[in-house]
Amino acid sequence: MDAVSTMEEILRRIISLRKNLEEDLKHISHHIQKMDEEVFNFVVSRLKKEIEIVKRYKPPVRPAIDPLVSSYLGVYSGLEFAGEYGKLMGYPSCCIESFKSVRFAIDEEHLKEAESFKGEGKFAVVITSGFIPCSLKCREAWRRCLIGVVSQREYKRIIKLEEELSRELPHYHGGYTEYYEKIVLLSPTSR
Ligand SMILES: [Zn+2]
Repeated sequence: MDAVSTMEEILRRIISLRKNLEEDLKHISHHIQKMDEEVFNFVVSRLKKEIEIVKRYKPPVRPAIDPLVSSYLGVYSGLEFAGEYGKLMGYPSCCIESFKSVRFAIDEEHLKEAESFKGEGKFAVVITSGFIPCSLKCREAWRRCLIGVVSQREYKRIIKLEEELSRELPHYHGGYTEYYEKIVLLSPTSR
């Protein structure tokens, strides 16, 4: 599984939910089916454009889905359906459960775990923004390109990708300006 294919899978599901009601994604199915044609097409085209950009960068971890797309999908207002949204976004069930137990942010525990990733050529831990793993070591999250450790070179490329995404897909969704959470591993003195 690579970052692009995980995003293509989300797009495929959104298009499928427009026509087919899925039992495990009932709320989102209804929501997507109620959208105006115009809004739905806009959501699909934004996501396609985001995927096209990501394809050129091939990052090891996928960026967050365009905030405007997420907002139209109701991600931010549907906290009571966190399980469904998590599933649509391809999050592992262990991480969805941990999120539902009110672990809403990257916390001390995650930062402590990050320490153990320190090593030669390892510059930072990157996580898909909006995704809160049950653990930084969650194997399923790594497999699904939601967490990774990058070198300084890869890190710079990720910053470039973020810049291009915000330039090409402008939005005014406050409180959400980055597509990745980043935990830099080097201590300030060794930089
Ligand atoms: Zn997990």
